[in-house]
Amino acid sequence: MSLLVVGTVAFDEIETALGKTGKILGGAATYVGLAASHLVSDIRMSAVVGGDFPQEYLDIFAERQLDISGIQVVPEEKSFFWSGRYHDNMNQRDTLTTDLNVLAGFNPVLPPGYRDSKYLMLGNLTPAIQRQVIEQMDRKPGLICMDTMNFWMDTAWDDLLSVVALVDVLAVNEEEARQLSGEYSLVRAARKIQSMGPEYVIVKRGEHGALLFYKDHKFYAPAMPLEAVTDPTGAGDSFAGGFMGYLAKVDDISFESMKNGLIYGAVMASFSVEKFGTKRLLEISSHDIQERLAEFVKLVAFSI
Ligand code: AMP
Repeated sequence: MSLLVVGTVAFDEIETALGKTGKILGGAATYVGLAASHLVSDIRMSAVVGGDFPQEYLDIFAERQLDISGIQVVPEEKSFFWSGRYHDNMNQRDTLTTDLNVLAGFNPVLPPGYRDSKYLMLGNLTPAIQRQVIEQMDRKPGLICMDTMNFWMDTAWDDLLSVVALVDVLAVNEEEARQLSGEYSLVRAARKIQSMGPEYVIVKRGEHGALLFYKDHKFYAPAMPLEAVTDPTGAGDSFAGGFMGYLAKVDDISFESMKNGLIYGAVMASFSVEKFGTKRLLEISSHDIQERLAEFVKLVAFSI
């Protein structure tokens, strides 16, 4: 089934204890789209970039069969730029720069062929723009999943709440869940977020896995314990790409299916962090994915 991915397509600059990248391909929609492209074929990308965005980066999307006709290029503007530095433990990072650039004036216009998409992933992006995308759909998609971050809670709170009210799944990390709900307990935080609109809440907990809340049901997907994490950037977006890519592939949004989606999300996130930027997402094969899925099954299988 079709999956529409909206979010930032950007330049990132990342610093970890292992080194510093120059400006590389990044952005929330980039990670979502590339991760999902391993699972489902009809993916439509909506984003904006400046005239400085290299054609070779756009070619990367096209090579993975993503529809990029909805990526708007504004020649006189610069692309969104984000830079961050990770602490030695890799679990914490400081944002050094968020230059909205072309994103500040982005007015998404979905190509007509995008408007019937069955699945919609609203990647991290200005909340007002996320809402504009929902409003342009021909009809409500079968499932809308949304990501956001503290930056938007600090700068666009009211807009953010108005979009949260329109989505089915909110996927955020634990600090974001706490900030959004004002609750420390993740169970209470999820319940409060459910009362704001989304029936399903996913709380991403980095190396501690992810939780899915739906009514009174809970499900936990672990993260794969890895020998080394090179770059956690985009882990959450790769997770969302695995989750929505799987649901779009099986076209089933039951709670059981969402549980599998969470495992696919964990699989794609585990690959993404193994190398800097999008490198690992671009080299893995379906065989690698199947192998890692089997490792996940072994990781949590036991009989009492
Ligand atoms: P994550 O590590 O999952 O939080 O995602 C990191 C990606 O999000 C990077 O590739 C950034 O380009 C992008 N990003 C960072 N800040 C923002 C923001 N305020 N809005 C949208 N995307 C962002």
